[in-house]
Amino acid sequence: MSPDERTISFSQQELQEIKEIYQSVMNLAANGLFCRAGQVLGQGIAKRAEQRGGSFLSAAADVLVEEGWVTSAALDRELAKVEGCIEVHRDGDRSCNILRGILAEIYARHYETKLFCHEVECAGGGAPRCSFQIRKGVL
Ligand SMILES: [Zn+2]
Repeated sequence: MSPDERTISFSQQELQEIKEIYQSVMNLAANGLFCRAGQVLGQGIAKRAEQRGGSFLSAAADVLVEEGWVTSAALDRELAKVEGCIEVHRDGDRSCNILRGILAEIYARHYETKLFCHEVECAGGGAPRCSFQIRKGVL
């Protein structure tokens, strides 16, 4: 395996701590950066989903589960519902900004256009799951 093909992993706890560092310095501005980071990660996830063939959104949902981002995912045309997002934490309503970026990238691949992805409900705020609305165009 060449160095460029290496992957790394970190735990949910480490991810939360890294996010807290960014938020302590940048407050809300960090959310936009997490989303951008998610878009970078989403490119690889979308590529791996494409390689599976079949329904792209269904394959992308499977990749998200298998790679540990969520415990279940249903990606429909304009709404993505996930359970067990790795970013969810207590008192962290609508905090799933990395996943928001990942989903924006997945749907951008699917529709071949830029998309805006907005978290409309979050398990961190007490909802049964996290739901993301997908809209064409950029806000
Ligand atoms: Zn959430």
